[in-house]
Amino acid sequence: MARAPFELTGIKVMPGSRIQIDVPVAKLYTHAPLHIPVEVVHGRQHGPVLLVCGGIHGDEINGVEIVRRLLRSRQIQGLRGTLVAVPIVNVFGFMQHSRYLPDRRDLNRCFPGSETGSLGGRIAALFREQIVDHATHIIDLHTGAIHRTNLPQIRAQLSPGSETERMANAFGAPVILNAELREGSLRHYAQNKGIPVLTYEAGEALRFDEWAITPGVRGVLRAMRRLGMLTGEHRRRSPPAAELANGSSWARAPIDGILRPKVRLGARVAKGDVLGKVADPFGNAEAAVTAIADGIVIGMSRLPLANEGEALFHIARFDVIEEAESAVEGFHSSLEPPLDSLY
Ligand SMILES: [Zn+2]
Repeated sequence: MARAPFELTGIKVMPGSRIQIDVPVAKLYTHAPLHIPVEVVHGRQHGPVLLVCGGIHGDEINGVEIVRRLLRSRQIQGLRGTLVAVPIVNVFGFMQHSRYLPDRRDLNRCFPGSETGSLGGRIAALFREQIVDHATHIIDLHTGAIHRTNLPQIRAQLSPGSETERMANAFGAPVILNAELREGSLRHYAQNKGIPVLTYEAGEALRFDEWAITPGVRGVLRAMRRLGMLTGEHRRRSPPAAELANGSSWARAPIDGILRPKVRLGARVAKGDVLGKVADPFGNAEAAVTAIADGIVIGMSRLPLANEGEALFHIARFDVIEEAESAVEGFHSSLEPPLDSLY
């Protein structure tokens, strides 16, 4: 049976075609209209409807580049199912280099939103109704917050044997966090609706990190292949090892001062290891930031200025730390140049 057209905002995308659609969001108070740019690739053959979106936080731009490369990839030619690609969801924040909306709301805390709510609620409701609710699967692309960087990692709620777990393992990021759902996030909304959803977190806000972008593109394609969406020739190589963390916590600044990190992203650390030192500008008072558990550094501050109590190093814990360490090493060696020389 021939596939029906895919319909978005009243525009019909015919099977075997792709089209860019500007979904109207709102008018700026200058009267200029604002749109969320969307590209729909609608395959001839039946299959999942995968939403890949970046920039829900407007300053997280690695995901924007991941979407661009995904859309240019030859691998999506002859796609089975439908790819709905949204490089920038929070177009307001993107223009301002800001995580937030103009009213200082976090769009990723506004779902499901409301048509009669504030700006954040309205954009969430519109994005949900026009785009999210058409998806059968979602990959949401993020980076660390401003001045923070993340080792590539997948965050998802994994139940054994679930489609979400299969996608997470196929993606091939070195670390998977079985992360709690945040109220109002896209992941929370989708998960509650029964849509398998992954969040990919990699790199730093307002930066292009090649070691975050390349594995992001490869990971989305691997997840698509796992979902049966890619039809062409492919190498039957298994994805790089991904290790499931059994928890994570932040090591915090013991005093106010200036931070000198002693570890890199991806480093294996033991409980009590010195992760960095915080000192006043003269070096009179100095205190060590220490690891509170054995683990892998999966996130860290890039800003050397710290207030007491500030989260500086994100440490993930694992049942078998050696396996996590080798997953990170495998990830490093899959990149050229390796992570070490880039950070
Ligand atoms: Zn984010």
